[in-house]
Parts: sequence; structure tokens; C-alpha cells
Amino acid sequence: AKAEGRGRFCAFNAGMDRRMHDCRVLQQDLRHAIKRHELALHYQPQASVSGEIFGFEALLRWYHPTRGLISPDQFVPLAEESGLIIEIGRWVLREACREAASWPNRLKIAINVSPIQFRQENLVGDVHTVLLQTGLSPDRLELEVTEGVLVQDFARALQILRGLKALGIQIAMDDFGTGYSSLSYLQAFPFDTIKIDKSFTAKLKTDTSADEIVRAVIGLGRGLNIPIVAEGVETEEQRAFLEDAQCQHIQGYLIGKAEPIAQYSDLTGATHAP
Ligand code: C2E
Ligand code: CA
Ligand code: CA
Ligand code: CA
Repeated sequence: AKAEGRGRFCAFNAGMDRRMHDCRVLQQDLRHAIKRHELALHYQPQASVSGEIFGFEALLRWYHPTRGLISPDQFVPLAEESGLIIEIGRWVLREACREAASWPNRLKIAINVSPIQFRQENLVGDVHTVLLQTGLSPDRLELEVTEGVLVQDFARALQILRGLKALGIQIAMDDFGTGYSSLSYLQAFPFDTIKIDKSFTAKLKTDTSADEIVRAVIGLGRGLNIPIVAEGVETEEQRAFLEDAQCQHIQGYLIGKAEPIAQYSDLTGATHAP
């Protein structure tokens, strides 16, 4: 299955030879990005629907020496294709947990985990080690996974998710509503959080079907006793809709963008070197 995925991202995303070549060069550059300290994490606040911040999601950034800032949507698929996401994912986990452990309060930290990381030997062991090494309390850590994780090797993924939960951490289902069979996965595993994809939030109040879908997902969460986070909340109108629909949590530009953590030191209470 590994060989099957290899080479496809560049092929699909690059129409012409030249762009295909560009994509390959980028993939090569990425191999050195960690040790050259080109990767960084930005942090986006997560809040109650009334705006009280309770945690942050760590979001990966690549400061390329000549191309400047590259979005994770552009390089995470490259890293997944080459398998490099395993090494990068370990770095993200260690870095974000170390950061959160340095905050004098108990804000949560949410970290994205790629389905490819579920194929590695010992994801549970790695997370356990990072918790021990950083001293981060497990109940402050949430891993965000997409249903893609359960699509490939269901039994194995379920076993890993259970192992992760047994560490005392939480698991969120990310990008809910964009896949194929999210409902059966909700039944198969007790997710702690469901994140409604920002494509639904963006259409609130402009598209009645989006309004109804979001209300239904919030109702589903209430029935299953799983809190909902609406992603991509940009306007007060969207927030007010979500509050009225009894959505618990929100994330989006209305509350704050993903920024270097020093920008949020008033919230974390940490002192950062300039
Ligand atoms: P995601 O996990 O769904 O993250 C949410 C994305 O929406 C982020 O984009 C965030 O900056 C953006 N966003 C947040 N609020 C708003 C808003 O109000 N409006 C709009 N238009 N966008 C908003 P970003 O940081 O570019 O990340 C894109 C994707 O890259 C993430 O989607 C995630 O799938 C992936 N990613 C990011 N960091 C990591 C990582 O450390 N590991 C892995 N495996 N994937 C990552
Ligand atoms: Ca996420
Ligand atoms: Ca998401
Ligand atoms: Ca996404």
C-alpha cells in the first residue's frame, strides 16, 4: 500500500513537467527541513461558544529558505507520500507537548496526526514517551485524527486508538462531514470531540442545508454526549448561530488565527524569549 501512494501527489498536482519537477525538488528539500530548523508550530485558540479560550491547536508551518512560508496543505501530502510525515509527526508531537508543558496554566493542546502515522510500529509508545519526557499531563493532550485513519486498516486503527485513550489522552474526529462513512466510525470508537469541518461553517446563514446539517451534527453530538467544535468561525453571525444551536466549542479567525505562541503569552502565562 505504501508504494501505491508514492509519487501520486506530485503527479496529480503538477500538470506540466516543470511543475512536476518543482514538486519533486520540494519533496527533497523537506528531507532537510527538520534538522535545518525550518519547521515551526503556530497555535490557534479553541474556545467555548461564548469566547472563553480553553486550549490551542498546533498547526505546522514550513519556512522555506527561498520560497518563504509554505502551507501545510502543500507539504503535508508530500510528507505523507514519502513517509517523512512519521519523522515530522514525532517532531510536532514532542515540540507541541514541550511547549504546552511550559505553560503555568492547564490549557489543552490539540495535535494533528496523519493516517500514515498509524502505520508506524509504535505510535502509542511514542506518545507515552513524549508524555513522560515533557511531563505534560495526559488529560491536557488531544490528538486530532480524520476518518481516513479508520478507512485503511480498521482493526489495527481501532487497537491503536484504544491504546492512545488508555494513556489518558483524548481523541478528536477532525473534518467531520467531509468523508464517506463518519457515522459508523462514531459508533465504533468513543471519540471525545467532533470537529465540524469549516466548509459547513462557512456556509452558515447563506445556505439553509448547511444550517440544518450543522444543527443535526450538534444534535448528534448531544445524543452521543460528545462535545462539538465548529471550525472556521469567522463572523459574529456564525458564532451566534452556533450558540443558539447549542454548539459547545468554536475555533476560527473570530477568536484568533494560528500564530507563533509568543503572540498568545497573555493567555498561556508563559514567558518566551523574544
Ligand atoms: P485542519 O486540521 O483542518 O486545520 C484547520 C485549518 O483551518 C488550519 O489551516 C487553520 O489555519 C485554518 N483555519 C482556522 N480557522 C479558520 C477560519 O476562521 N477561516 C479559514 N478560512 N481557515 C481557518 P492550516 O494551518 O493551513 O492547516 C491546514 C491543514 O494541514 C490542517 O487542517 C491539517 O490537516 C494539516 N496540518 C497542519 N498541521 C499539521 C500537523 O502538525 N500534522 C499533520 N499531519 N497535519 C497538519
Ligand atoms: Ca485539525
Ligand atoms: Ca479540521
Ligand atoms: Ca482540514
